Amino acid sequence: MADLNTDVRYIKGIGEQRAKALEKLGITDLRGLISWFPRRYDDRTQAKKISELIPGESACVAAMIASPPTVSHIRKGMDLVKVRAVDDTGVLDVTFFNQTWLKNNLVQGETYIFYGKAEGNLLRKTMASPIVEAEGRREFTGRIVPIYPLTAGVSQLILSRSIRQGLDACADILPDVLPDSVRQEHHLCRIEYAYENIHFPESPEALDLARRRLAFEELFLFTIGLQRLRNRRETVHVPPCHDVDMGAFYDSLPFTLTDAQRRCVEEALADMRSGAPMNRLCQGDVGSGKTMVAAACVYFCVKNGRQAALMAPTEILAKQHYAGLAPLLENLGIRCALLTGSTPAKTKRSIAEQLTAGEIDFAIGTHALITEGIAYRDLGLVVTDEQHRFGVGQRAALAAKGEHPHTLVMSATPIPRTLALILYGDLEVSVIDQLPPGRQPVETYAVPGSYHQRVYNFIRKLAAEGRQTYIVCPMVSENDELPDERKAVTEYAKKLQAEVFPDLKVAFVHGKMKAKEKDAVMTAFAAHETDILVSTTVIEVGVDVPNAAVMVIENAERFGLSQLHQLRGRVGRGKHQSYCILISDNQNEETRQRLKVMTKTTDGFKIAEEDLRLRGPGDFFGQRQHGLPGLKIADIGCDTQLLQEARQAAETLLAQDPDLTSCPAAAERLAELFTQAADTLN
Ligand code: ADP
Ligand code: MG
Repeated sequence: MADLNTDVRYIKGIGEQRAKALEKLGITDLRGLISWFPRRYDDRTQAKKISELIPGESACVAAMIASPPTVSHIRKGMDLVKVRAVDDTGVLDVTFFNQTWLKNNLVQGETYIFYGKAEGNLLRKTMASPIVEAEGRREFTGRIVPIYPLTAGVSQLILSRSIRQGLDACADILPDVLPDSVRQEHHLCRIEYAYENIHFPESPEALDLARRRLAFEELFLFTIGLQRLRNRRETVHVPPCHDVDMGAFYDSLPFTLTDAQRRCVEEALADMRSGAPMNRLCQGDVGSGKTMVAAACVYFCVKNGRQAALMAPTEILAKQHYAGLAPLLENLGIRCALLTGSTPAKTKRSIAEQLTAGEIDFAIGTHALITEGIAYRDLGLVVTDEQHRFGVGQRAALAAKGEHPHTLVMSATPIPRTLALILYGDLEVSVIDQLPPGRQPVETYAVPGSYHQRVYNFIRKLAAEGRQTYIVCPMVSENDELPDERKAVTEYAKKLQAEVFPDLKVAFVHGKMKAKEKDAVMTAFAAHETDILVSTTVIEVGVDVPNAAVMVIENAERFGLSQLHQLRGRVGRGKHQSYCILISDNQNEETRQRLKVMTKTTDGFKIAEEDLRLRGPGDFFGQRQHGLPGLKIADIGCDTQLLQEARQAAETLLAQDPDLTSCPAAAERLAELFTQAADTLN
């Protein structure tokens, strides 16, 4: 008997090799398999007549084989099967490459369903290598077909057949985390129905019900988890911080804080003096100067005799914070240390000892800060940077290193206040709504791929003026496979170096590199030892190289607005006029609009609003753009209504049954979700 924890090799057709491939997607057991949700769907319910086929568009057509298929040998290793199919409106010539068995499988006089891209003209329609199946089989045609994100060695066919088996084995034993009362009150379908129809929807309506149910479930668990964290915190009292003369800190800065920065600092300090632990979200657009707000809080905390920690999502960012803050704060008598995954074991041990002894006041680092064996003498303040990269669990893990420390969360993702309330529990929100003086808005252009030469010329011209350029590398996925970023980045960088910029220094960085290598590349770029940095979105978060003045984003259609905004925020951080060039050949109306928004405004909040508006609700026939860790189906931007409902249900349940004794499945799932390790980190 199989259950959810049964190894995927249980599935017929999955052996060692495919199991290995699936493991790359994080799928090891049946639970993982059936929770691998489609990224989009193809609606193949409607079959067209041959005369209705539009060249260039994919469609299903039901047609009868008119004459026996022929096979011709084109060249070595290449065979071609040709067959003519007809319906009462016309003729369709179909060809298949290297599928010679079809010669015997396609029977003259029988009707089949073909799904593929139509070509040809009004008089003569053709289809090359369509999917073909017998009428009424309804595996790949005649229904809404799930399209899964893939990896090498696993095809759509294998995935969907494996998931079929997985569902058949587990449908009756799926634990339902929703109590019946909640399910009924909110008109949600049963768990078996939801899993069946998210993978193999009977109809658009069934898919809708399934999605709604699964999204609700995620949001429900998410809010319960947050609510419990919050409940634990509410009654807590801590000794209030005493006042500190901040003059010395402000005087030591090379600039004056903006009014907005000052206000955020004041709000945070007031929290810390209040006698309850601070829980504050500091939101500010890229480049608004959040780091200095954090530094002010650290200064205040340490001068109160307690320790502080700052956790960044990447090693690069942690080092950058250390390089920027340590000299400033050391000067003010604050002992700082950097702790990351690549800190040598010996240094790590010594830092750990000093933290325990209270000989270090301020630790800056990655999630290494929350690993076992790191203990603080008196951790009074925890700052997390670019919070959306961290799971709730990690934030809690760092806070657990102290006795109800104050927490400050910094985020450049502008989210509406109602959402912030839910996502960040009961965090108070401060907004830095002002950029430091003297910043010039980044000039932004959206251009087609035919402009590449001009873009390269432009990069060269600015390089001659001493500026540097980021190029976010083109990433194309073939057949829905997840793109191979390592290959894409290295090959593009090599090509640029050899063919386009032999006289400049081109470097590259991608997420698959070791932290040390990444760091070396970034450091060299920051020191202007290289001119052009080709990368994936690993540079999306927080890196600060004021001399970089050009950001080129290839395949810009692949990114959501907020992400484009984050990427653009890497330039325009110094005194030079900066440029962002979005390259895309995509003609899709929504894409065009999205890129246009980027050229029109640099205001992050406006961009976030537009992002929501453009994507709109119910966008699940399209590709999903981003989500939060732990949310695979729900989309915080679109499912606002559902979020409210789920939240209300969660609150009602917790009020009656705070320990969730009535729904052990939910309690179990929560325990998993909220202890899950740092898998969203680079
Ligand atoms: P972000 O909000 O994106 O984290 P940073 O804290 O990295 O922004 O600040 C961006 C840049 O602006 C840094 O180089 C920082 O030194 C500088 N900066 C911050 N505050 C001010 C200010 N008040 N005046 C001038 N420059 C500032
Ligand atoms: Mg920052």
